[in-house]
Amino acid sequence: MKEIILCKYGEIALKGLNKRTFEDVLVKNIKRRLNQLGKFHYTRSQSTIYIEPLDDNADVDKAIDKLKKVFGIAKISRSIECEKSLEGINNTAVPALEDTLLGARTFKVETKRADKTFYLKSPEISNEVGGMILDAYPHLEVDVHAPDVVVLVEIRENNAYVSAEKIDGAGGIPIGTSGRAMLLLSGGIDSPVAGYMIAKRGVVLDCIHFESPPYTSERAKLKVIKLAERMAEYTGRIKFHCVPFTKIQEEIKNNCPEELFTIIMRRLMMEIADKICERDRIQCLVTGESIGQVASQTMSAMVCTDVVANRPVFRPLIGMDKSEIIAVSRKIETFDISIEPYEDCCTVFTPKHPKTKPNIKDVEAGQAMFDFKPLVDDAVENTFCEFIEAKR
Ligand code: ATP
Ligand code: MG
Repeated sequence: MKEIILCKYGEIALKGLNKRTFEDVLVKNIKRRLNQLGKFHYTRSQSTIYIEPLDDNADVDKAIDKLKKVFGIAKISRSIECEKSLEGINNTAVPALEDTLLGARTFKVETKRADKTFYLKSPEISNEVGGMILDAYPHLEVDVHAPDVVVLVEIRENNAYVSAEKIDGAGGIPIGTSGRAMLLLSGGIDSPVAGYMIAKRGVVLDCIHFESPPYTSERAKLKVIKLAERMAEYTGRIKFHCVPFTKIQEEIKNNCPEELFTIIMRRLMMEIADKICERDRIQCLVTGESIGQVASQTMSAMVCTDVVANRPVFRPLIGMDKSEIIAVSRKIETFDISIEPYEDCCTVFTPKHPKTKPNIKDVEAGQAMFDFKPLVDDAVENTFCEFIEAKR
């Protein structure tokens, strides 16, 4: 029995004149994701990409697992290829749908007839196939309004294809159609979720992480890399920038007012990230902040950090509750890594009483007590880059 995979687009189906460009990017992304899994042939028609395994080595199960993480796909189904006749469908597809149909109580059949020369029209085909299914699985009933299972029959040029199960795709739009962003990635729960959410809107993702050895350990950094590997299952290869931040943090501690440590540290992070964006032509910054979540994530604090960046700072989690953020982090399987107990540079010199409503003038004056410019330039220059790929 031969199976093919059908991927239905979501939003790109609505893209009008640009649709073709979006499709091209999506197909390229899919090919890149499946290239280790054997040979496949790709065709597209009617807002669907058909992926046909070309040899016995092509692994359909693994391919579907990968496709579930490709943005731009709304639904995935596996279809059984049959001879283009009612007997063909009865002999090959009806028995092959056993697992799905035995688990259902009601069903309906829908038919798409790309080959308009086929001797039966779509409603007639649906009726015939419905009858065959009722014969083979007498426990079933037809329900055209809210069936447990929709059996889709497609009559195409050379063969018929029958599928019964639709798998949820990742949604969103294809990565590479919406520019490039730099995510400030810590080891926490929030920033990987923010990265996933911006990438879902078609954005290519770079990550920047600030480390402060020996205050932060090698294992803390490995944890962040593991998070990036998980995100890469959705985003594809990620360019990861690791910034040496120790000296800057020590000078903040030695020279600036304690209540402003955190806000000044954030501004310097932002400034460094912004400079690297400028150098690498990255259009925006992204953080995992959500308004009011902690002392440093008040509106006033965000105002004080954003003024140092020369590009928009996006915060996809801004209106989410922690429980909602956690639900996404479990779904993308970053949660268990995020809760590993390693220190972040943010927690190294936390003030006892951080200012929750910092005033921009005070913050600028506090930061001006030391000349950070040479250290900022050094940090940019000594930032270490590597590419991170999904590990499974
Ligand atoms: P997260 O769970 O993402 O760590 P958080 O709730 O712990 O967030 P903060 O520690 O205040 O919040 O950090 C806010 C945001 O600042 C993070 O979401 C992240 O985008 C950025 N950030 C914090 N620490 C670092 C770091 N060491 N490297 C890079 N970005 C960081
Ligand atoms: Mg954190």
